[in-house]
Amino acid sequence: MADLEAFKEEVRAFIAEHCPQELRVGNRMDIPGELLGPWVKALADRGWITPDWPTEYGGGGLDRKATAALRAELKAVRAPIISSFGTSMLGPTLLEYGTEEQKKKHLIPISKHSIRWCQGFSEPGSGSDLASLQCRAERDGDEFVITGQKIWTTGADRADWIFCLVRTDFDAPKHEGISFVLFPMNQPGVEVAPLQLIDGTAHFSQVFFDGARGSVDDLVGPANGGWTVAKKLLQHERSTDGSSDGGIGGSAKETIVDFVKREVGMEDGVLADPTIRERLAAQEIDKRCLGLTMRRAAEEARAGQINRDISSIGKFRWANMVKNEQDIAMDAAGTQGLGWEGAGFEANQLERTRKWLITRADSIWGGTNEIQLNVIAKRVLGLPE
Ligand SMILES: Cc1cc2nc3c(=O)[nH]c(=O)nc-3n(C[C@H](O)[C@H](O)[C@H](O)COP(=O)(O)OP(=O)(O)OC[C@H]3O[C@@H](n4cnc5c(N)ncnc54)[C@H](O)[C@@H]3O)c2cc1C
Repeated sequence: MADLEAFKEEVRAFIAEHCPQELRVGNRMDIPGELLGPWVKALADRGWITPDWPTEYGGGGLDRKATAALRAELKAVRAPIISSFGTSMLGPTLLEYGTEEQKKKHLIPISKHSIRWCQGFSEPGSGSDLASLQCRAERDGDEFVITGQKIWTTGADRADWIFCLVRTDFDAPKHEGISFVLFPMNQPGVEVAPLQLIDGTAHFSQVFFDGARGSVDDLVGPANGGWTVAKKLLQHERSTDGSSDGGIGGSAKETIVDFVKREVGMEDGVLADPTIRERLAAQEIDKRCLGLTMRRAAEEARAGQINRDISSIGKFRWANMVKNEQDIAMDAAGTQGLGWEGAGFEANQLERTRKWLITRADSIWGGTNEIQLNVIAKRVLGLPE
């Protein structure tokens, strides 16, 4: 315990030295590079972008308690937490399924935040029914040649590499002919076409492969055994936010009332509104219940008492709560919550409308709400198909 307290002190001193006040704004997309860059480097130098990874792969080598303490200290001051498809999805999957060469080659750049990854799973016609995917890879010597299309690929226009599901056996049952491959995006044979979202931004793209190439050394898991690897990666994806209350209300220590006040500049008069007050209370209770439930499940799993994947429960509840939180903030803002453009609205009010819209996507990515419920029914409750 004394060690943990000393470690927290160390983290606070690190924050005081490397995280200036203007950087303490949470995980915003618009933080200027000259402000974010030194912070990323300071974290990377300590291995604190991936604090719980082994030091030989660029991690911090911290145990579970120290990792949680580090994250709590960062969140408490709203310091940006550097998370990416590499840190939250591919990295943990490679730690389990990667060869030693793959770990050395890919984990270190992820832990330094120097290589950006995107996720090539969904295809037109293969979203919820992911195993029906048609993008194909054929062996040519020491390489795969990849042909086909992906869609909704977040960050594809900025990504250096892609982790991609491809069909490598065309006769096997659909789940048994899929491989999990890694290959660079910046090559002939890869074309990226950004898609505009409802909030006006273009975070994701269609990606076309026409003879793109990847090394067989970057096949993760066995050939045609990619479905098992993909399922594990999806568990990590669904756990990213759902495994804690971290994404809701800005930080673990912030209440929903603080969140709405910060987001909307809520007057006391709005708090006096019994309907909003009741919704705020219900949301806060739900948030705490989710945090406690996921913590209890993690502890039970560690103690060997349960061995079920409950990431879908976390993802389902989290997605609905994030949407609900934004609905409450929207209603608290009244008519000023409905601005899209024009002089009658402040910049933060226009941004608020867009934030509300973009959270509609939270019950779609990583598997829709309906798919999470199917997974819970099958894998957690053991109900028949
Ligand atoms: C913000 C965002 C980011 C994303 N990023 C990525 C990414 O980086 N990489 C990537 O590969 N994909 C990404 N996706 C795609 C995402 O994984 C798919 O959109 C999702 O899996 C749903 O697939 P679909 O869009 O094809 O919808 P469909 O599968 O066509 O589903 C349409 C509707 O039918 C329902 N439905 C389908 N099957 C069933 C069933 N068996 N039981 C009950 N209901 C069902 C669904 O719930 C949904 O309401 C992203 C999506 C979003 C919104």
